[in-house]
Formats: sequence, C-alpha cells, structure tokens
Amino acid sequence: MMVEHGVPGSLLNIIFKSVEEYMGEKGLRMLLTQAKMTEFLENPPPDVDTPVLETERLKNAIGVVINLFGEKAARPLLLRWGKLSFEYAIDKKPALFGLAGFVTKFMGDEEKIRFILKKSLKEAENFYGAPHFLTETPDSFNVEIKNCFYCGNVKSDQCVCWVTIGFWKSMLKWATGKDYDVHETECMAMGAESCKYVLPKKAI
Ligand SMILES: [Zn+2]
Repeated sequence: MMVEHGVPGSLLNIIFKSVEEYMGEKGLRMLLTQAKMTEFLENPPPDVDTPVLETERLKNAIGVVINLFGEKAARPLLLRWGKLSFEYAIDKKPALFGLAGFVTKFMGDEEKIRFILKKSLKEAENFYGAPHFLTETPDSFNVEIKNCFYCGNVKSDQCVCWVTIGFWKSMLKWATGKDYDVHETECMAMGAESCKYVLPKKAI
C-alpha cells in the first residue's frame, strides 16, 4: 500500500513491538483488530523509512489504546511510544537533531531547550498539520497545540497526551542529560479548546 504522508514502516514496527512487550501478543492482536489495522495481523509493517500508515489512522489507534487497555495501562505504553518516536527521529533525522547537537554544544541548558524545541515544533507542525504555539515565562516553556493529534479523539477526566510528554521528556534528556517534569495542564480530551503543556526550565 502506498501512503503519501504518515508513519514510516520501521517506526510502526517498533511501536507494535512495544505493544506486544506491554500487553502481550494477544493485546497486540486486539489492538490491530479494534483499530482496523488488520492488514498488519499476518504481516508486520515492512522495515522501511517510507510511510505505510496514514497519520489519521495512528491518531485513531491512540484512542483505541486508551479505550481498550484503560488509562492506567495505556499511560506507560503511550509514554513509551513518545520515547521510541524521539529515538527514531534522532536516528533518521540527522539534519534536524544531529545538527542541533552540534550547534547547542556550548549553550546553557535553557538555551539548548529553546533551540531544539523551536526546531522540533516546526517539524511536528508540518508533519501533523496542526499549529503548535511556543511561549515562555521565567520558569517554563509553554506549548499549545490546536487540533491536538495525540488525544486520539478520547474523552476523559484527565490529560491523556502521553505520547507528547514521552517525546519531550526524551528530547530534553538528550539535549541536557537531565530529567524534566514535562506535563500537560489542559487537554482536549477533558473538553479544553486546545492541549497545553509545561516544560519547566529547571530540571528535577
Ligand atoms: Zn491533550
């Protein structure tokens, strides 16, 4: 199948393996069935860097993960998806992250985060076609995502965009070697107009 924009085969492969790791083979089969990704039941995604799944279908799969496994079990799995996606990006987008690693070498942590955040938000905006807004206070970087992709159209009484959190936590760790308490303060899953995230400038 040819897909113009979407999730590369090799990344999807890694994501499916993480589902199997957390939920077992049966869990993966349930997810593939319920998320209408049955074409991957017998044949795992090809190990290619070209897209094999429309982004809209991954968005749907995030929603299915939360509804199928429950929020408590979905949280660590989706955080993991974020981490895996970042590791994939580092590996496959040297133009973005390789260069950034070189450019930021002599910057302080806050400058490093600002630099890499601006670059990656631009990239994410192009990929998902959803606007990302970055603002700043003395204590934190604040990101707002309109039409957030990561809620997977879920309704909840808590913030559920764990993929994003996992991605940024890994990115900040990569850039500075430190852990940051990245968290979501408003989520479309809770009925908010957009999803809002706080990335503290001070490490844990
Ligand atoms: Zn959200």
